[in-house]
Amino acid sequence: MPSIFSKILAGQIPGQFVFRDELWAAVLDIRPVSPGHALLIPLHEAQHLAELPAPTLAALGDRLARLTVAVKTASGAPAVNVVVNDGPAAGQEVPHAHLHVFARFPDDGKRLSWPATPYADGELTRWAERLRAAWR
Ligand code: 5GP
Repeated sequence: MPSIFSKILAGQIPGQFVFRDELWAAVLDIRPVSPGHALLIPLHEAQHLAELPAPTLAALGDRLARLTVAVKTASGAPAVNVVVNDGPAAGQEVPHAHLHVFARFPDDGKRLSWPATPYADGELTRWAERLRAAWR
């Protein structure tokens, strides 16, 4: 079954597009963190970023960088957050890969925060080894 984003991309339900090309589109989120909150969505439907085709991934940096500039320019914000919820346990509600880009202003009260804790002795090195072993 097509995701809600595939339906927007197909024109079956409405969406406000910032741009659309052969690989990616940006659409305004209907429940914005701040006005102009945009979703960068691949035309290819896959739940996780790592499942996207190589040409789509290769174009991601360019489209993302340009979208951060568009959000900053349109909003006058000095900063943006780029957020990816890659899987339901990370808060992904729509099972079609996407990146959130939303404007941030000093003292806007919208700080993303999570409980960061220091590593126990030796754990930082062990985790670096685990990730190096997992790198493909
Ligand atoms: P996720 O939690 O999956 O990372 O984010 C999904 C986002 O899609 C949410 O921020 C939500 O507001 C947005 N969203 C859900 N349904 C629609 C829709 O029908 N149209 C648009 N434009 N955004 C949607």
